[in-house]
Amino acid sequence: MNANSDGMSAGILPDLEGRDARDILRWAFERYGERLAISTAFGPSGVVVLHLAAEINPAVRAFFLDTGYHFPETLAMVDRVRDRLGLSVEVVRPDEAVLLAEDPPGQEPRLFARNGDRCCEIRKVDPTRIVLRGLDAWVAALRRDQGPSRANTPVLELKENEGRPIVKVNPLVAWDRKAVWNHIFQHDLPYNPLHDQGYPSVGCGPCTHAADGTTDERAGRWAGQAKTECGLHTQI
Ligand code: SF4
Repeated sequence: MNANSDGMSAGILPDLEGRDARDILRWAFERYGERLAISTAFGPSGVVVLHLAAEINPAVRAFFLDTGYHFPETLAMVDRVRDRLGLSVEVVRPDEAVLLAEDPPGQEPRLFARNGDRCCEIRKVDPTRIVLRGLDAWVAALRRDQGPSRANTPVLELKENEGRPIVKVNPLVAWDRKAVWNHIFQHDLPYNPLHDQGYPSVGCGPCTHAADGTTDERAGRWAGQAKTECGLHTQI
């Protein structure tokens, strides 16, 4: 792994466990400045991170992956967040040539049905890798209570992107679902209306289903499959 512009290594990451989410974001903004970006899919936790970040630094870079399969309600969040928080969220799309080669329009079954991991790779992971190329820090909205695969998420993680280190910042790891929704209602923040229609988590249309009555926040994602993550938070 090459050094990033900070010469950052796992050994010199500070211990921010237990710190307030705003303090964690402030630390990250001061340390990385323009070499940092927030990724968001406009889930409830993501909206909270965008809100806290916008209060500290309204010019912070944020991006959303438009996989080509999002619900209209999710796509509308780009404008709703801009109008409410004053944050301009960059929309990142997959490489058209790769889509044509591997998942051409009209070909059935579609790639998500043939090979979901590869579909997530070309529509989510690879475009994210390209955005992260020029960065030293990446802010996400993971929470430990979102499920077993996220239960041990640290506040700061040293990750690798294309052979280069990048620090992943998770300011909401210690929040629970109730705290997130309380924050959204207290501050009258926009949220995806599909959450009011039985969708605990909202991803791409073909891989997301309503899951009424469950307390599992990731229920309804890749239902009936062993898959629980798209790879963004496991491959990078
Ligand atoms: S969530 Fe489904 S449709 Fe979206 S990129 Fe992954 S496999 Fe493809």
